[in-house]
Amino acid sequence: MILVAGGSGYIGSHVCKMLAKEGFDIIVYDNLSKGYESFARWGRFVLGDISDERQLDLVFSRFKIDAVMHFCASIEVGESVVDPEKYYINNVSNTLTLLKVMNRYNVKKFIFSSSAAVYGMPDKVPIEEEAPKKPINPYGWTKLMVEQILQDYDRAYNLKSICFRYFNAAGADPDGEIGEAHNPETHLIPLIIDAALGKRESIKIYGTDYDTKDGTCIRDYIHVNDLARAHILGLKMLLDGGKSDVFNLGSESGFSVREIIDIVKKVTEKDFKVIETERRPGDPAVLVAKSEKAKRILGWKIEYSIEEIIKTAWNWHQKL
Ligand code: UDP
Repeated sequence: MILVAGGSGYIGSHVCKMLAKEGFDIIVYDNLSKGYESFARWGRFVLGDISDERQLDLVFSRFKIDAVMHFCASIEVGESVVDPEKYYINNVSNTLTLLKVMNRYNVKKFIFSSSAAVYGMPDKVPIEEEAPKKPINPYGWTKLMVEQILQDYDRAYNLKSICFRYFNAAGADPDGEIGEAHNPETHLIPLIIDAALGKRESIKIYGTDYDTKDGTCIRDYIHVNDLARAHILGLKMLLDGGKSDVFNLGSESGFSVREIIDIVKKVTEKDFKVIETERRPGDPAVLVAKSEKAKRILGWKIEYSIEEIIKTAWNWHQKL
């Protein structure tokens, strides 16, 4: 049985769908603060917070859990700067509670959602796993702290973990059952799609004076199902007795904000207003992953192109 903490959120729900397809038994454990119960369609659902040791105890004592996948975190970089306490409590302290209960029940396999935010402003792109870790906001620090905690837990308690450093997760389930629906939405692709749908008047480009080919920031967008597949491969590796490791998950190709806007216009055949405005604080000019390690060790491959990312997202958002 696999416990998926945060299984009714965006990435967690796509992983659950894939786990179910692969024949795994799942328990989704989620406080529904950001996720949706309608996304918890696979496996059992338990309403609970990872800070609630008693509730976790009940779940771990009732079910034989083989591994935990952890997707619950606060993810808004800007908010982490103005309210770091929320981030350190939710992302670090509450993760420790979950790990404590795992240790108590001798559950020693853990998959963790980390982030490219651990690299901060990279000196070199594409970014390798070994690149310096220099977060530039509390959100990135919380992810790096948990990675450090996991290294120590392996040494001391033999708890094996895989940390996946996500680049820009995007797109939706091709069947249209689940998708990206953050509230508030701050991510580029869903915001552009809202503009295409007429739900938003315009899309703003944050900064046109970066040292990039067209002056706008370059990011590495990766389809949520490509991310999900890496989680299944990582889980299987741990269940087969594999060691702890850390992997970047990105497509290894970068697209500028302007390019993404153009692709959305082309795919949706809609036009909308684009406003050029100042830079958003804390945005590195270019973030592109080197993902060769995940390919080599996990046998992972990227299946979705940027057009498919936009098409699946468009399909999902039209249904909302
Ligand atoms: N961005 C933008 N307009 C928006 C939202 C985002 O120009 O309304 C830019 C943002 O500055 C960054 C890129 O799009 O360069 C991706 O931003 P997002 O918030 O989706 O992901 P991040 O890379 O910050 O994790």
